[in-house]
Amino acid sequence: MCAIEAGKRGRRVAVLEHADRLGKKILISGGGRCNFTNLHCRIENFLSSNPHFAKSAVARYTPAVFIALVEKHGIPYHEKTLGQLFCDRSARDIVAMLEAECRAAGVTIFLNTRIQQVQRTDAFVVRAPNAEFCAPALVVATGGLSIPKLGATPFGYDLARQFGLSIREPWPALVPLTLSPEDGSHYCDLAGVSTEVIASCRGQHFREKMLITHRGLSGPAILQISSYWKKPQPILIDLAPDHKFTAAFRDPKIPRNSATLRAEFRKILPQRLADRWLDFHTPTSWTNPALADLEKQIHAWPITPAGTEGYEKAEVTAGGVNTDELSAKTMESRKVPGLFFIGEVVDVTGHLGGFNFQWAWASGAAAGRAL
Ligand SMILES: Cc1cc2nc3c(=O)[nH]c(=O)nc-3n(C[C@H](O)[C@H](O)[C@H](O)COP(=O)(O)OP(=O)(O)OC[C@H]3O[C@@H](n4cnc5c(N)ncnc54)[C@H](O)[C@@H]3O)c2cc1C
Repeated sequence: MCAIEAGKRGRRVAVLEHADRLGKKILISGGGRCNFTNLHCRIENFLSSNPHFAKSAVARYTPAVFIALVEKHGIPYHEKTLGQLFCDRSARDIVAMLEAECRAAGVTIFLNTRIQQVQRTDAFVVRAPNAEFCAPALVVATGGLSIPKLGATPFGYDLARQFGLSIREPWPALVPLTLSPEDGSHYCDLAGVSTEVIASCRGQHFREKMLITHRGLSGPAILQISSYWKKPQPILIDLAPDHKFTAAFRDPKIPRNSATLRAEFRKILPQRLADRWLDFHTPTSWTNPALADLEKQIHAWPITPAGTEGYEKAEVTAGGVNTDELSAKTMESRKVPGLFFIGEVVDVTGHLGGFNFQWAWASGAAAGRAL
């Protein structure tokens, strides 16, 4: 996106990519259909140590601008849920669109180009094994640490450090959480069971599906909250949003016993989860206070994850180049004129739902328009 914007403005642009093709992450994104943006993009959808940093770029390159580009290329798409836009056919459409825009803007793309060294004299000199590039401006768009097998490297962070820029220590985000051996032995054999929950921690909450896995918890609600979770905090899970199980027991004709309780739980939760959860949360008695206590527990079930599934499974890397180091308008380093950082390598991380691409497009366009 940065190369396209700069190329359109008549700049001579070279894209240096160490992989054998462009946009590998785009290709695997959104289950192969690329959730390329979100209709309801707000500043609250981004985490950063400076919550205002993304505002300017995102306001100037809105989802509507990207959608117009998608439509110009005749790419069919649909809204899946919660404003999330996906390709009807394949994420390949988005990569082909970006490649076509690069060609039209006269951008030269160098694949299989592993960068060995970057130096700054009166210009930036970038050395690869078989080529040397020299330019007055250098834009770092090397992403985060997620999915190392796709070629993710700490290169961007190393380069920032080399030029004296500070880094907010990265951590895996939008990532499944693992359970302790004890919790795992209670619940992990229910792998595949999913239910709508509200997952909360550190003042954030997400109402979406939770999925039990062989190692712990996943699904959109858990992926979202994982970005905020810090070990050893617990996350709270409301297993039954909007439901009051014990309401039925106000009727004196309803017997207060395990069978009735199980039946009530099974009305709301998947049967296996209902039964299992009750196995480990038997009410201490059938009094009103004991039932009220159970009600409280089901709406705020504390789970202390053992950890996360790490960068191998994380959809993004949170943290990154400290936003204090960059201009929010252009993404240029305040200390090193001509050096820009865009996309995931910056300490701006989107929620699940197309926000990470929206940040990549918006920050790329911001830099491209300033080059
Ligand atoms: C499985 C998965 C699914 C996802 N689905 C979605 C989704 O549907 N919607 C969404 O908004 N976000 C999604 N994301 C997140 C999204 O893909 C990223 O946030 C986004 O791609 C970041 O863009 P970027 O250009 O900053 O970095 P990247 O897309 O990671 O691109 C960085 C590029 O730099 C190259 N590179 C790295 N190091 C070097 C080096 N040393 N030399 C040369 N080149 C280098 C890499 O090969 C890569 O091509 C998903 C991520 C994953 C892992």
